[in-house]
Amino acid sequence: MDDQGCPRCKTTKYRNPSLKLMVNVCGHTLCENCVEMLFVRGSGSCVQCDTPLRKSNFRVQLFEDPAVDKEVEIRKKVLKLYNKRDFDFPSLREYNDYLEQIEDIVFNLTNNIDVENTKQRMEQYQRENRDVIQRNKVKLTREQEELEELLLLEQQGTEQRRLDVLQEEQRQLHAKRKNKQALLDELEQSRLPATILLAQHKARAAQLETEIEHQKQSVKPASLFSTGIQQSQTVSLQPVPRIEDVLYQYRPLKVDTYGPPVPELEQLGRLGYLNHVRAAQPQDTAGGYTTALACHRAIQDAFSGLFSL
Ligand SMILES: [Zn+2]
Ligand SMILES: [Zn+2]
Repeated sequence: MDDQGCPRCKTTKYRNPSLKLMVNVCGHTLCENCVEMLFVRGSGSCVQCDTPLRKSNFRVQLFEDPAVDKEVEIRKKVLKLYNKRDFDFPSLREYNDYLEQIEDIVFNLTNNIDVENTKQRMEQYQRENRDVIQRNKVKLTREQEELEELLLLEQQGTEQRRLDVLQEEQRQLHAKRKNKQALLDELEQSRLPATILLAQHKARAAQLETEIEHQKQSVKPASLFSTGIQQSQTVSLQPVPRIEDVLYQYRPLKVDTYGPPVPELEQLGRLGYLNHVRAAQPQDTAGGYTTALACHRAIQDAFSGLFSL
């Protein structure tokens, strides 16, 4: 990768990491300091291509390749005029042709091909489609506003729910406190024995808890996303319908080893097969290795084929 730098003062991002590169409509780069120096009067011409430039048109270069910045800026401008959408066309084919036209224009302007003609084409389009452009602009703005309104409503809803929960918690706390105070008062004034009073208090507290639980469950969760899609869309958790045919039946594989039967894995230790096998170290067993397993395999190997001669 080329180190990005200012073509005029040759400062690079490598030498000065805080270097701020700016790019103008012609797609050529200058650092912030050089822009300040060369465009003190607000306008001047590009060091590299001599295009007359205004200082206010310099933007911070976002992409490594300034040509991309240039294209993005051009695309924005073109799309401001060419703001028709698919439903403005009678067929998909015409819409696609239109999109292709846009790409042609963006490509030409970005790469300085046939610039004059392209600009004329754009102006002509603007003259011919003034009404549509204006109408679509209004429509886009309105859609944006509607979306923002929806987001705002959602925010308000969330805030309201938060407040509701807070209020409910306060209320519950208050009720609990009151219950406790009532017990203290009764203990002080009543002639009933303390054990009975305590039992009554316990029953009341338990009832209060169940009430609180009920209320918690009845707090309604948000039901809509900002997109307007139902949040609690029911996904069926029913089991997949059973296929009635007999699919597969397991039959244990019968392998003739042409040798004596191999003892079961579990019996190897008891039968003394492991006596002369090196016991597995803890680090060996990490991957699932056991002494018996290796021994079993070795016995299988050794036993099979013994009768075949
Ligand atoms: Zn510079
Ligand atoms: Zn230039």
